[in-house]
Amino acid sequence: MKSPQSSSVTAGIRSRQHYPRIEALPDAQRYLVACQSPESLPGTGEAAGNARQQLQMHCQLISTLLDQLGSHEVGGAVQSAPATEALPTGPADNARLHRWYDVDDRPKACDALVGAISEIGVAGCLVIIGSEHFVWQVANLAQQQGLLLDDMVMLPVAALGRHVFCVHCQQVSEHVIHSPAACDGCGLMLEVRDHFSKRLGAYMGVRIDAEAPGEIPPQEEVAPCLAS
Ligand SMILES: [Zn+2]
Repeated sequence: MKSPQSSSVTAGIRSRQHYPRIEALPDAQRYLVACQSPESLPGTGEAAGNARQQLQMHCQLISTLLDQLGSHEVGGAVQSAPATEALPTGPADNARLHRWYDVDDRPKACDALVGAISEIGVAGCLVIIGSEHFVWQVANLAQQQGLLLDDMVMLPVAALGRHVFCVHCQQVSEHVIHSPAACDGCGLMLEVRDHFSKRLGAYMGVRIDAEAPGEIPPQEEVAPCLAS
């Protein structure tokens, strides 16, 4: 199955991810929408408000597209209370079905999510909504279950910024909006590069004043992950 949204790289920057606008979902019988729970979004104030709003807009879009496909919802689930009703898999049942699954920001620790992903089967479609880091954590889990990236639709919440992997101390700083940014681990000022690791769900951060210690350029906002 070829997804209408191919996760390609942005021209000129080989490793930076590019997430085209979604106009339709891939054709499938079973859909799982894994959504980062709004309660697990970080921060307060305007930035947090923007992130919640973007998350909600992504959810509304997917809801509309599922409606257009005539898909029926099967009981939703949250990480703390997995669904008891399984998605039917019988071949005689041609109805399109979907389930929403709220996950906190630790999808790797969620066995029930792995179960829900395996439930949609190889012909299923996984929609992932959350921070870019969250999206790739879930995508990596799903790939371990045999799903292909073409069977996934990713809607990262740009307002949640970037996770940045410090190449000096290996610490990941979360939700970084500006570059340079101080590393949460070693405190060095890092240039937030566009080089993105799918495995880590994070961008590389490299000491910005390595050659001229103490010379820190003014901060600039990093480009949002949604390029179109
Ligand atoms: Zn560091």
